[in-house]
Amino acid sequence: MAKQDYYELLGVGKEASDVEIKKAYRSLAMKYHPDRNPGDKEAELKFKEVTEAYEILKDGQKRAAYDRYGHAAFAQGAGAGFNGGFGGFNFDFGGGFGSIFEDIFSEFMGGAAGRARASQSAARRGADIRYDLEISLEEAYRGLKKEIEIQTAVRCDECDGSGAAAGSKAETCDTCHGTGRVRRQSGFFIEERMCPACQGTGQVIKNPCKKCKGTGKVSQKKVLEVNVPAGIDSENRMRLSGQGEAGLNGGPNGDLYIFVHVKPHPIFKRDGANLHCEVPLSMTTAALGGNIEIPCIDGSKEKVTISPGTQTGEEVRLRKKGMSMLQNKNVGDLFVRFKVETPTKLTAKQKELLKQFAEEGKENSPEATGFFEKLKDLLK
Ligand SMILES: [Zn+2]
Ligand SMILES: [Zn+2]
Repeated sequence: MAKQDYYELLGVGKEASDVEIKKAYRSLAMKYHPDRNPGDKEAELKFKEVTEAYEILKDGQKRAAYDRYGHAAFAQGAGAGFNGGFGGFNFDFGGGFGSIFEDIFSEFMGGAAGRARASQSAARRGADIRYDLEISLEEAYRGLKKEIEIQTAVRCDECDGSGAAAGSKAETCDTCHGTGRVRRQSGFFIEERMCPACQGTGQVIKNPCKKCKGTGKVSQKKVLEVNVPAGIDSENRMRLSGQGEAGLNGGPNGDLYIFVHVKPHPIFKRDGANLHCEVPLSMTTAALGGNIEIPCIDGSKEKVTISPGTQTGEEVRLRKKGMSMLQNKNVGDLFVRFKVETPTKLTAKQKELLKQFAEEGKENSPEATGFFEKLKDLLK
């Protein structure tokens, strides 16, 4: 079968920038990644093809050679690339699988890289995992215990993480005699590169464990109980040490990072430990004074006295009715800002009453009177 054009495979033009190529590969790799398509041979093949294309096009020198000579530039390597020794993940190009994965996935996909590198003999720390947790402001105030479910890679219990089937173990690689490196000619270049048969480990698993296909890890759902402390805010993230993906060959586990997002609240706005809210007052309450009840974040109700003549923008401060604080047991304050509501949809009788009210005199609105006096002076 004729090999498909690398640019076509990635769905980019010949002039595509490195960033565009990386972006195209990333979305295709996410789509066809074997972890997301278990048992789907077609996806696996597609995944290999796009990875091969990316391996060439991301490297300026190789890309130039490809642009000039097409697949012939890499003719020797192309056939031997997919010998499938380790669950079909061997690659014949450049720095091998691990490096592309590190490059592409490490910032956000964590464990995907681990699987492809599973047969390496050096101890490796497992990948970190990110989990996004959305909570309400009330939950952030009180703190909460929450069960979360994560998909993670754990050590395969069948082979105890070795990747080799029961009764067998990894053997010295015949291709590189255990050095992990091979010299080869690739079109016009002679390069020393990672051994394609063992991915640079110097060892091959001839009889891979059936359960983990030789990777030493299996994907598994894990349920964790997380204690979210009171006072947490959206910029905070929690680290659960060792709860990330399993390490390899005795390496430590990665960590789990919980990124907390506090949902916007319909009434309260948060400013660090303080809360702000705006309370509408009817014109009559603002003028005559009265009592209102303010619901607080801790579930209590606070009685607030409105003094006669309260204006829009006036504020009362309710001490210790704000947010709890993460580092200590203090509580912030709640600032209640009043907003006087001008009545609408007046009845005929109300209109009449307000007209009478207005005729009573202007002393009731000293600011408005003063303002129009000043305006008069200016226009003189
Ligand atoms: Zn296994
Ligand atoms: Zn080798």
